[in-house]
Amino acid sequence: MVDEVHAIDALSYEQRTFPPSTEFKANAIVSDQSLYLEGERDFEAYWARHARELISWAQPFTKTLEWDLPYAEWFSDGTLNVSYNCLDRQVLAGRGDKVAFYWEGEPGDSRVITYLQLLDEVQRFANVLKNLGIKKGDRVNIYLPMIPEAAVAMLACARIGAAHSVVFGGFSSQSLSDRINDAEAKLLITADGGWRRGEVFPLKSQADEALKSTTTIEHVVVVKRGNNEISMTPGRDVWYHEAMADADAVCDAEPMEAEHLLFLLYTSGTTGKPKGIMHTTAGYLTHVTTTFKYAFDHKPDTDIFWCTADVGWVTGHSYIVYGPLANGATQIMYEGVPNFPANDRIWQIIEKYKATIFYTAPTAIRTYMKWGAQELAKHDLSSLRLIGTVGEPINPEAWIWYNENVGGSRCPIIDTWWQTETGGMMITPLPGVTVTKPGSATFPLPGIGAELVDEQGNRVLSGGGYLTLTTPWPGMLRGIWGDQKRYRETYWSRFPGRYFAGDGAKLDSDGYLWLLGRVDDVMNVSGHRISTTEVESALVSHPSVAEAAVVGANDAMTGQAIIAYVTLRSGLEVDEKVLREHVAKEIGPIAKPKMIFFTPDLPKTRSGKIMRRLLRDVAEGRNIGDTTTLADASVVSELQRRASETPTED
Ligand code: ATP
Ligand code: MG
Repeated sequence: MVDEVHAIDALSYEQRTFPPSTEFKANAIVSDQSLYLEGERDFEAYWARHARELISWAQPFTKTLEWDLPYAEWFSDGTLNVSYNCLDRQVLAGRGDKVAFYWEGEPGDSRVITYLQLLDEVQRFANVLKNLGIKKGDRVNIYLPMIPEAAVAMLACARIGAAHSVVFGGFSSQSLSDRINDAEAKLLITADGGWRRGEVFPLKSQADEALKSTTTIEHVVVVKRGNNEISMTPGRDVWYHEAMADADAVCDAEPMEAEHLLFLLYTSGTTGKPKGIMHTTAGYLTHVTTTFKYAFDHKPDTDIFWCTADVGWVTGHSYIVYGPLANGATQIMYEGVPNFPANDRIWQIIEKYKATIFYTAPTAIRTYMKWGAQELAKHDLSSLRLIGTVGEPINPEAWIWYNENVGGSRCPIIDTWWQTETGGMMITPLPGVTVTKPGSATFPLPGIGAELVDEQGNRVLSGGGYLTLTTPWPGMLRGIWGDQKRYRETYWSRFPGRYFAGDGAKLDSDGYLWLLGRVDDVMNVSGHRISTTEVESALVSHPSVAEAAVVGANDAMTGQAIIAYVTLRSGLEVDEKVLREHVAKEIGPIAKPKMIFFTPDLPKTRSGKIMRRLLRDVAEGRNIGDTTTLADASVVSELQRRASETPTED
């Protein structure tokens, strides 16, 4: 091969490999290459088969895909109802008494909800929405804690063809009003308050504040959860429980066109202003139903599934509400934080409900590492058989820790790469087939096309590059709400004919994909293009380090200099020099951080992702930009204070 200039240097390759156990493979839904081969032969036929086998249609489709780049229509002449697929057909198949949700409130209260009860609740609430003037095509905003009513609200919208736009309950009133205005929503569903860290946090008062700067909301439905004092505006606001008591019990699921708008969801805003991502009915449902079944190797009769995401994120949409319910899954839903009343709450819940599949984020795993393995040792986690991650690259050492301490070295780990925009999983192991490597999301799922390219758009077959998607997929976004120009520019203009996801990745000699984080974060140090992920992983591979964030700051000598922010594991210490040498030894002297700051916390979005953009502002002494999606602004001011006090080393 010619001496090509890589878009991103590949500095390290993890050598350890983990095949699925013979026992896991023997019981897995997929244990050979057949699905991959089917997808490669004809991806359209692959998805059409799953749309027919896993989805119930009012009117079967005859057209699979119409592709007019960058616009796709999937199964366009079919009609179906998403809530029918998630609820009615489960009840008709005899699963009425099966538990849909084991719900655990933060204070320790709990509820058990069967499919029949969920169907009943959704029908009534769909009638409430109709009574309040909501029609097919309207937008409804949802601003709720993690309570079953969040799923009820989403499914009730789907039942009558209103598009929901869920806003994470931890977002400010400003974020809520921005999203309501962008979507021109007619109705808002919220709660008095929810439980978080042992206290009730207010939602209704935040919503009231938001509604001062909106004009489209006609009614507000309020779920009673926090029992905190709130004010109700007569004529506008109604209590959920009162409206439900008056509502008819029956609301038939209305068939929708395949391309009918199912929901809007604003991206989590790690890189900047969130975009209203549009997802439609049939393709999205097919994608999440198929991927849930295969990636989690889901067995409806025996599995207890727990995804720790909030319904406010795409993970909560696809793998708490639509994917699992369309598969008839039994799930755990938890309202609160992982450290209330103590640092072992997550493990206590797994033990209580005997969860078999657990799906969480690398940021959470690194937090559990920080708290220490003794918290897990207090509980019996032997019910688990498969564990997964989503949201950020997982550092190999965090992967190993997850494998040993949570998975008991017996559970396959699926590292799932996907985005709000992709709707469902894209690059992920098949747990009964794939030999995993710690830190690699491995291969595109069957029916998915992904390739790396260099600056010029030439295909990269080994080493670092830009991650692109080469074929349309059923769960793909259909656009950005109100801004189709931005849709084309953001995703389809950089490399002709390819969807560019914004992420960098590398390919090893076995063809495994390793996600390297966002290309905007890639550092340029003396002409080397170094990904933040690789330096962070090198830092996390030191036994004292729990979490690290790395950024490139302008530097007169080297172009950019590597600045690291490091959080240590509880009770451990390490010298800055030792860590710098550790990085040099792990991935090379070029990647040695110029400066390391120790910090108890890193700035993260409310979905838990590290916000490197802000750290770059801090490192370069700038005023920090838009912080509306930041979880805890005090972390940044503390880092700024320390940066101004630290003399430059070297
Ligand atoms: P915004 O697009 O508004 O900046 P965001 O990209 O964080 O926010 P999401 O759609 O929630 O919003 O996140 C998708 C991104 O998360 C991916 O593009 C990727 O950067 C990262 N990601 C998700 N899963 C993985 C994974 N398994 N490995 C590596 N990165 C991942
Ligand atoms: Mg993104």
